[in-house]
Amino acid sequence: MGDVFFSFRGRVYVNVEALNMVESIGNYVKHRRVPVVVPESYITYMVPAISGESIAHGYQYVLAQKAVEEGLPVCRLCRAGIFLKSTNTDVFRYAFGASSLPATEKDLEKAIVANCIVEDVGGFLYAAEERGAKVKNLKRTSNFSVGYMIPVAEALVNTVVEPQLHTRYALGTKFVKRDEARGQMIYYVEIASAPYVFSFDLDTRYIGRSTFLVETAGEPLVGEEEIIKRRLVALDAFAEFMIEMMFGAKKTRFLPVIEWESFIAAVSDGTWTVPSPFTNKYIENAEKKLEKYSKNTKLYIYRRDGDKSFEEVLLEAIEDAKNRVKG
Ligand SMILES: [Zn+2]
Repeated sequence: MGDVFFSFRGRVYVNVEALNMVESIGNYVKHRRVPVVVPESYITYMVPAISGESIAHGYQYVLAQKAVEEGLPVCRLCRAGIFLKSTNTDVFRYAFGASSLPATEKDLEKAIVANCIVEDVGGFLYAAEERGAKVKNLKRTSNFSVGYMIPVAEALVNTVVEPQLHTRYALGTKFVKRDEARGQMIYYVEIASAPYVFSFDLDTRYIGRSTFLVETAGEPLVGEEEIIKRRLVALDAFAEFMIEMMFGAKKTRFLPVIEWESFIAAVSDGTWTVPSPFTNKYIENAEKKLEKYSKNTKLYIYRRDGDKSFEEVLLEAIEDAKNRVKG
């Protein structure tokens, strides 16, 4: 069995999207905005963005479903897409159908990690709240990292968020009186269009292994065979997640028009991240980085005008990573 570090960065055109909304004020629904600095001019713009939390939710949902298909353990809440992840004693008891609480940090970590792959891969934060609970706090850092999708550097000065007017028309029915405002309810949904950056890293090193206590960190919490299976599922889940773009909100009526411009998937034996696609030279930067520094790294590069399809390049990278896991 081998450790694999999988790093993915890319640029993707997302048109007319409402993937990450933050609040509604009356009948006005706002898109998330974040401050981003333009290189060289140092001017800061408020631009549309999609949060890492939104992306993490999507990935963990696919991971839960794939794990269930593969017969791997997923707790009652995670399999339903509710990622409370052992927040407190009540959640722990319900999620795992446990009648008692483990008395040591080591046992609690094992009880959670061994019985839920989502909390194994995606981490959790437990705070007991309850009197008499022997373990007060326990945490596990996520084995994957994601961040905000923001517009690429060259597009920052041109990004637009625009409210779209919609109407629900009900005049002429017995439910509204003549001249009544709700006979023609109007509402606004902000939509954005931008070439966004996308980032995802997965470090398989600690999947299925203890991390909380210094003395036991790295020790397996499930059998070696299952650790391999968990790592493979985490990689397969990423492939499916990307191919189907399984994240974001409001997709039933604001299904965005998505097209990938380019991406790099780097498969390594240790930590090796792809340089930021915020800069258009990122592919060149990644190749230069690899010339100087490698963790047995192999780059899989997709270009919109290239010969290979998005899926082809991504699945080649996933296959390489899976072969390294199998050792
Ligand atoms: Zn869970």
